[in-house]
Amino acid sequence: MIKLHDKYFKPFITATQIDEAVTRIATQLAEDIGDEIPVFVGVLNGSFMFASDFVKKYPNRCEISFVKLASYSGTSSTENVKQLIGVDYDLEGRTVVILEDIIDTGNTLQEINRIFKEKKVKQLKIATLFFKPEAYKKQYTIDYIGMEIPNKFIVGYGLDYDQLGRDLPEVYQLKEDHMINLVLFGKPGAGKGTQATFLKEKYNLKHISTGDVFRYNMKNETALGKLAKSFIDRGDLVPDEVTIDMLQAEVEKNSEANGFIFDGFPRTTAQAEALDIFLSSKKMEVAATIALEADDEILIQRLLERGKTSGRADDTDEVKIRNRFDEYNEKTAPLMEYYQRQGKFHSVNGIGSIEEITERLCAVINNL
Ligand code: 5GP
Ligand code: MG
Repeated sequence: MIKLHDKYFKPFITATQIDEAVTRIATQLAEDIGDEIPVFVGVLNGSFMFASDFVKKYPNRCEISFVKLASYSGTSSTENVKQLIGVDYDLEGRTVVILEDIIDTGNTLQEINRIFKEKKVKQLKIATLFFKPEAYKKQYTIDYIGMEIPNKFIVGYGLDYDQLGRDLPEVYQLKEDHMINLVLFGKPGAGKGTQATFLKEKYNLKHISTGDVFRYNMKNETALGKLAKSFIDRGDLVPDEVTIDMLQAEVEKNSEANGFIFDGFPRTTAQAEALDIFLSSKKMEVAATIALEADDEILIQRLLERGKTSGRADDTDEVKIRNRFDEYNEKTAPLMEYYQRQGKFHSVNGIGSIEEITERLCAVINNL
């Protein structure tokens, strides 16, 4: 996966596949044109790489020139095709072959046909490396097609996303934003925080630790923070709606994220239901719930070790640690069942090196 500006792209067409397509077009064209010397006209900027590789593979004498047109902005085609640099060339009586990187709606092709009609060429042929049949709206014949592709935005091999990606030797496809929303479970000491840090980097996720969100809202005295505090001050539990509202604010603040890691929430089945309802209101859902499993005795050793340096009093007392484990088991058991029923529950072995555990987590996520 690669990132260009704000978007992620996944590998789609290999350099070898491109090479084969280019060779195929060059061979066919040479057969059809024969001894005549054609003028190949590359359409800049996108076709610079195709044109370059193509003429190297074309077995006979040829001439090459370029025109510069532009119709794209961002990730969608526009009706507005502009001619930025025209042909500086007398093409009367010549066989002209247009070399396009990609034909999408056909707007650019229409403009090309208009431009070359005036040039009194002997014949005009169109060759494109990529073609999107589902997007094509025109009737012009396309004589040579390297590869038909689905109506998805691609980059690489000359094609750009706002000027980035043209240099890539292979082609990548825009990764549609299906979000990776994870709920992370794990006993104290299981390494949730450490792993969440890796996962959020790797998958562009936002880690929402409910404890942190609470502390942030109360410290900054947001409306929700004050509301939560009013319950706490009276010795009451903060209602789930208030917590959900805080999470919602976090989700809305991070709309560019590829997903969220919910940590510390849900803790009850009622909260899990509330989370599902909230997410579906945003056309989102929990993709997976992952529990980092580790043997109690190993975790106790880890926590006692951590307690020596962290200064956290609750990490130094074995009885207190065991109580936290019991509480965890009691509370999460019904939750695990809840997510198991949805087929979303995954358990990952949390014993091993940090890298090993990250790998196990990635294996689950990459499979979603
Ligand atoms: P059309 O005029 O056929 O809609 O689009 C042609 C031009 O739009 C191409 O020459 C190219 O510059 C751009 N284009 C169309 N589809 C894509 C795509 O999937 N990725 C990129 N990067 N550019 C595209
Ligand atoms: Mg183009």
